[in-house]
Amino acid sequence: MDETQTAPVAVERLTPDRVFSALETSSAGLTQAEAEARQARQGKNLIQTEKKKSPVLAFLSNFTHLMAILLWAAGIIAFVAGLPELGVAVWLVNVINGCFSFWQEHRAGKATDALKKMLPSYASVIRDGQEQKILAEDLVPGDVMVLAEGDKISADARVVRASDLQVNQSTLTGESNPVRKTADAVLEDDLTQAETPNLIFAGTSVSEGNGRAVVTRIGMDTEFGKIAHLTQNMEEVQSPLQLQLNRTTKQITIFAACMGVGFFLLDQMFVGSEFAAAFIFSLGMVVAFIPEGLLPTVTLSLAMAVQRMSKRNALVKKLNSVETLGSTSVICTDKTGTLTQNEMTVNHLWTASHEYEVTGVGYAPVGEVRLGEKSVDAHMDDDLRLLVAGGALCSNARLLSPEEEGGRYTVLGDPTEACLLVAAQKAGIEPSEQEAAWPRVRELPFESRRKRMTTIHQLSEPLDGARRVAFVKGAPNEVVRLSTRVRVDGEPEAMTDELRNKIMAANDAYAADGLRVLAVAYRPLAADDPSVPRSMSEYSPETIERDLTFVGLEVMQDPPRPEVAAAVEQCRRAGIRVIMITGDYGLTAVSIARKIGIVRGEHPRVFSGVELERTSDDELKEALRGEVVFARMAPEQKLRVVENLQQMGEIVAVTGDGVNDSPALKKADIGVAMGITGTDVAKEAADMVLTDDNFASIVHAIEEGRAVYANIRKFMLYILNSNMPEAVPSAVYLLSGGAVPLPLTTMQILTIDLGTDMLPALGLGCEPPEDDVMDRPPRDPKEPLLTGRLMRKAFLWYGLIGGIVSMAAYVFAQLEAGWAPGLEMFGVGADLDPVYVRATTMCLAAIVFAQIGQVLNCRTETASVFSRGLFSNRHINVGIVFEICLIVFITLFPPFQAVFHTSPLGVWDYVFLCCLPPLVLAVEEARKALFRQIRRRRAPRAVAEGR
Ligand code: ATP
Repeated sequence: MDETQTAPVAVERLTPDRVFSALETSSAGLTQAEAEARQARQGKNLIQTEKKKSPVLAFLSNFTHLMAILLWAAGIIAFVAGLPELGVAVWLVNVINGCFSFWQEHRAGKATDALKKMLPSYASVIRDGQEQKILAEDLVPGDVMVLAEGDKISADARVVRASDLQVNQSTLTGESNPVRKTADAVLEDDLTQAETPNLIFAGTSVSEGNGRAVVTRIGMDTEFGKIAHLTQNMEEVQSPLQLQLNRTTKQITIFAACMGVGFFLLDQMFVGSEFAAAFIFSLGMVVAFIPEGLLPTVTLSLAMAVQRMSKRNALVKKLNSVETLGSTSVICTDKTGTLTQNEMTVNHLWTASHEYEVTGVGYAPVGEVRLGEKSVDAHMDDDLRLLVAGGALCSNARLLSPEEEGGRYTVLGDPTEACLLVAAQKAGIEPSEQEAAWPRVRELPFESRRKRMTTIHQLSEPLDGARRVAFVKGAPNEVVRLSTRVRVDGEPEAMTDELRNKIMAANDAYAADGLRVLAVAYRPLAADDPSVPRSMSEYSPETIERDLTFVGLEVMQDPPRPEVAAAVEQCRRAGIRVIMITGDYGLTAVSIARKIGIVRGEHPRVFSGVELERTSDDELKEALRGEVVFARMAPEQKLRVVENLQQMGEIVAVTGDGVNDSPALKKADIGVAMGITGTDVAKEAADMVLTDDNFASIVHAIEEGRAVYANIRKFMLYILNSNMPEAVPSAVYLLSGGAVPLPLTTMQILTIDLGTDMLPALGLGCEPPEDDVMDRPPRDPKEPLLTGRLMRKAFLWYGLIGGIVSMAAYVFAQLEAGWAPGLEMFGVGADLDPVYVRATTMCLAAIVFAQIGQVLNCRTETASVFSRGLFSNRHINVGIVFEICLIVFITLFPPFQAVFHTSPLGVWDYVFLCCLPPLVLAVEEARKALFRQIRRRRAPRAVAEGR
């Protein structure tokens, strides 16, 4: 990093004006060319926190876990027992398996790294006199940052303008209470950097207010950069699923070892083979039962799901979240922007004297304000002028014209505020001209808790005798509560109960139609009014937002997103409840909830924030069992709803966008932040970020989450099922006391396990969600991965079919060579009898061919595999082709024949083998069809019985 980067002077001691010159910049920011020159000199604003695990260590760790150690030991024993060929084969199994795992992990890692890049950090700066969004890594010293509530601060900087600016510095100081920041020069000497009120630091965030600051230090030179090494070497925590898998793998490995010992003892009891032969035989059993490739495949299928989700606008930050998504049972969602389009249009204006209609839709300022049949200009109607001008002045949004942005009018900032600018234009008021005539001198920023916002302006002509006026806009009930006067026919009148009721009745009528209503009011801040603070630094919501003069209502439509109703219906079928928690008004909330199907009953329970305060947890839980809508909620109250739902055993996903949503986002099982309107703070607290702010994307992510879990089960079903056909021949050999010569040799078992089984199994991890995945209830998170049902299906159904088929092939080969029941089988006492070798080869090939049918069977649980296209999974197809080639290869070429104890197969053998996949497929398809039939018959009965 360049030496010049450290701030040349103690900028905290300078006045804001001098800060600009000291850092060779201005209030209009740097020019783009100067910023680029500084970046060329001083580098990018990056903090190197990640110290990657060494690839060598990562590679080696695949050879040192319990299963691998067991295989290493088995190899050594094989060598000691004088069977080097087998020892090499077992080690080869281990090496191939380890390399495979490493490759899988590498692919999974790459997938997640790519995702991280999809969530870049941005900063708002002034460059060339214009506010613009740049990548945080492109900040340079001298850049003027624009700070707003919820922004992450990406460089150390000196504050030069502050409006109630408060910063959360807990990442630096551990202190989570927000710290107030100001722009004034600080002359005290005994303050630490963090205590200095005009300095802000990288890694912290704006918890309230807004302001501007000039960057002083970037990258590793920042305070955060200096302590960054402390956060290095952070261990990645394993997800519950990975932990469960580790446990399952260990259990199966131990089980496999026991099986080996058991088979050894049985051999000694029933057959009495030589020690070495018995050992090889039992070793085969151990290898057969060890589930190689389980863990990396699961990691990879999680990573693939995360990639698929990102294509459907849901960025999952940690792999663990994918599995939690699969068991989500409740979604608590906000309304504005998530369920609705957040493309606001003011369609009515209301004052105590008139109701106006506003024509035109969207952000194009094309349309007019009409009173009855007549078009109205705000310059001719004082109340209307104050209403639209007040709304537009009290706005931080910016309208981007088609030339500036993508061919159509769009907005920068809050859509609720942007539509007020459009309404003003339609009424004949140009917001920028109004702002120039009545410049803003101060702002009391919007807060969800207060539900209003105020800006203070210096007027070119007096209003109610004052040249300084505060414009307040916000939730109507809040604004009316604070109003003591009302504009009626161009004059302020005292607020009466009658007027108050009239305003609220108008508000309710609009809200019942699902419209969003904002009230506008003002307060003259006359110099001689004793209730007005003398100094602007004393302006606060408490001192300013009182004795207001109510002007009118701006009524806006924000239609539901078209895809949301279907997504809500999908949730209903999937046993997932959707609960709306919004800051908006109850009537508006219920109306929208009804339109999209969240609410169906006549009388849903509507909780307001105030009512929730008065409700006990028990009552809340009772209410949560029925249809309920939470309206006028402060973000903090979401946390309580989430906690109560969790206490009821639900797995809760919660949406949020503001700073105050963070506790609920963190507490939720799945915190979902909005990518477009969400603050950096919310995005950081969340587990998942929606790039389109759309509720439907949450439902898609849940679908993928469920699919991943289903895929892992499919994969396990497949790899466990092949154990049976490997074990059955050995069991027959043992139980016949050797009368049936060992139908499958140890080397052949190794071939199946590694050579042929692995690739098709991996394909199962990539299966897309099944059609009915959202027709089932959420998975119980306590349910183990390896259920009794899965084991039964693997061993007693798929496995048994495979076992029978493999034995049939063996017997077929013996029969073909002239064996008949009652005679001694070929191979008894003579290992290398060519008929026997062919019979074992047939047994091996039969297992492989049957597995082709089984892998296709595993692709669906109950649906017909033909419904999704028999060969639609490319990965599985490649696996199938590979295993067929391998089997032909090792039977055809003499060197391989010697190693794998195989012999070439004849045409009839292949005819027999080719019949196996369709046969296996047909048997399972018949079972699935029967199952579907039974389910269909049961379903109407369940509905009739109200289940
Ligand atoms: P949701 O919680 O579903 O996103 P919301 O936007 O209504 O809905 P908040 O952002 O918490 O929720 O806003 C609460 C209320 O504050 C709004 O219903 C509106 O009445 C008022 N409000 C919203 N935005 C502004 C704003 N920019 N200025 C003034 N008042 C606002």
